[in-house]
Amino acid sequence: MTVTTIDAEYLGHEGFAATYLLQQGDRAAFIETANAPAVPKMLEVLANEGISPEQVDFVIITHVHLDHAGGAASLMQACPNATLLAHPNAAKHAIDPSKLVRSAKGVYGEERFAQMYGTIDPIPASRVRIMDDESRLDWNGRTLRFLHTRGHANHHFCIQDEASGGIFTGDSFGLVYPALQDDGLFAIPSTSPTDFDAAAAKASLDRIVGTGANTAYLTHFGGVSNLEGVAKQLHAQLDRYGAIVDEAFASDLDDAGVEAFCREQVAALFDELLSAHDLDTPLARRILATDMDLNGQGVAFAVKKRRFKAQKRT
Ligand SMILES: [Zn+2]
Repeated sequence: MTVTTIDAEYLGHEGFAATYLLQQGDRAAFIETANAPAVPKMLEVLANEGISPEQVDFVIITHVHLDHAGGAASLMQACPNATLLAHPNAAKHAIDPSKLVRSAKGVYGEERFAQMYGTIDPIPASRVRIMDDESRLDWNGRTLRFLHTRGHANHHFCIQDEASGGIFTGDSFGLVYPALQDDGLFAIPSTSPTDFDAAAAKASLDRIVGTGANTAYLTHFGGVSNLEGVAKQLHAQLDRYGAIVDEAFASDLDDAGVEAFCREQVAALFDELLSAHDLDTPLARRILATDMDLNGQGVAFAVKKRRFKAQKRT
């Protein structure tokens, strides 16, 4: 019933992205895959536990964002008996990653993409199993329960592991970086593009806490036991993010204006949080720079999406 946290050392950063190794008797499963360059380290941890890649039954991705699923194809190639467990909306991208790869290359460029993710091959459909909401998997007597959790991404699920009392939350239960926890809890939500929905994200928080799990295993980063405390901070911030979306939606700003407004408001929210937590240091700024940027983008995207839907209705 062991859960091992593996630091994927994602893009060279420690304490940023975790993957998890679960052991059940002499069998194993991985939850999250980080990116392809992280796979050798995951296999090394497996070998250290005395388990061969042939004994890996499952590779599970919480959602298809590439810091979670980028290494899935490589890991599946290394573990010939494994089945990939994925959300219905994530499975299609695992089977045919071309759209995902194209959009990531559009963001990062060909060369940077190759450095970050290597190659992402298709995973044969016969090795992919879709897990519906509330589905349960009996893994040699250990039950894994799958909960679809929208808000961060529409292709996201969490995995509850009743045997360990844990729930693997991907990006649905915020980001709690170990390096920023010196003077108490500091959690932030991830509102990155393209599916951010504040109300759905809040409902997902309640659903996660409602499972009664004693530990939430976050991808960014590690196990946290104070689920109520994390949820409280995230709820308060998601209210603010929701209000930014509402205000921008109601304004007469054009697309560029919405983008600038959302980024400014999100940056101001980060300023406020960092000073409230006495965390406004260059280290904290460096750790949070990408999230601040992505959160601003995601909020602006949510406004544009809502406008597009409203236009279609009229
Ligand atoms: Zn994500």
